[in-house]
Amino acid sequence: MNQDIFLKLRHIRKEFGAFTALQDINLDIRKGEFVCFLGPSGCGKTTLLRIIAGLDVQTSGQVHQNGKDISRLPPALRDYGIVFQSYALFPNLSVADNVAYGLVNRKTPKAEAAKRVTELVKLVGLPGSEKKYPSQLSGGQQQRIALARALATSPGLLLLDEPLSALDALERVRLRQEIRALQQKLGVTTIMVTHDQEEALSVADCIVVMNHGVIEQVGTPLEIYREPASPFVADFVGKVNVMPARVSAGALRFGALCLPYHGVMDGVDRDVKVYLRPEDVLARPIADGDAHVFDATLEKIEFLGSFCHVHVSSPALGGHKLTVYLSLNFLSEQSLQIGSTIRLKLLPERIKVF
Ligand code: ATP
Repeated sequence: MNQDIFLKLRHIRKEFGAFTALQDINLDIRKGEFVCFLGPSGCGKTTLLRIIAGLDVQTSGQVHQNGKDISRLPPALRDYGIVFQSYALFPNLSVADNVAYGLVNRKTPKAEAAKRVTELVKLVGLPGSEKKYPSQLSGGQQQRIALARALATSPGLLLLDEPLSALDALERVRLRQEIRALQQKLGVTTIMVTHDQEEALSVADCIVVMNHGVIEQVGTPLEIYREPASPFVADFVGKVNVMPARVSAGALRFGALCLPYHGVMDGVDRDVKVYLRPEDVLARPIADGDAHVFDATLEKIEFLGSFCHVHVSSPALGGHKLTVYLSLNFLSEQSLQIGSTIRLKLLPERIKVF
């Protein structure tokens, strides 16, 4: 066994009556890793987290944590702290009593528990809040306290079930950075469930992309973004242009463009779909004689602040449209507006073919 593997899931299957929520999930999580379960609503990420926590029992399959088979262990005997989506603090308990909850259950001496509570509220950036009640705290502050409560017993595993989804946009970003910094400081193996790809890309060491109860891909944020293993992953993580194309004689053809194709060739021509990120279509610098260059017409400009999503069409693309990212400065420098013609260049090495 690889000593670094802290959590091992083998052949996890979960059925709710006739419905299969998870099928044959196999996953290794290394000690100290920050892993995100990412996927659309209903893909099974929360169910998988709950199985790891023992809050749901798998229909079949095994969970090993720290070398021990915990597949049938009740939640109270497992070694984890958990934070839920909605503020699950006890409203009638003070911050101190909420944070101390797990310590009291473990019969930690009072003075020791009080010291630990002071340490923890400081750790989550709310020193001196011990006497407050949850109703006196903002959503973000309540989640910080929930985090302190989850960490109180120094668990081996921290489980976060969409902990940021009830917060406003600014607070979400602030708290996700704080959670990441705290996780790195403590070195605690962490799993966070999220349906927000930006959240996963920004905090995770490893992303597990799920869809319809199966794992589509496991990889670093960069691998998931740059080397998506399936059309679903390419589409779900980041923005992507999808265009029909044809592979024939070692080349990929769409519209008037012909690009080199390095994928598997078996001599059979076939229709494929090409996936291309907006940032892999360049507007500059384009030198004379550059390959894979074409002229396009600006059809729509979506202003998003410092840069814009620009929709273009071109006969070279066989009538298909592309979205590209252009900076506001570039658009104004070049006096570009709807109807203008722009010269663009594709990066063929970045095109994914499925
Ligand atoms: P969300 O982000 O919406 O919470 P999710 O990916 O976390 O989605 P799960 O909550 O794990 O999805 O649910 C996976 C599937 O299992 C869904 O189709 C859901 O309806 C179903 N499901 C979950 N819990 C139960 C249950 N107790 N009984 C029946 N079906 C359930």
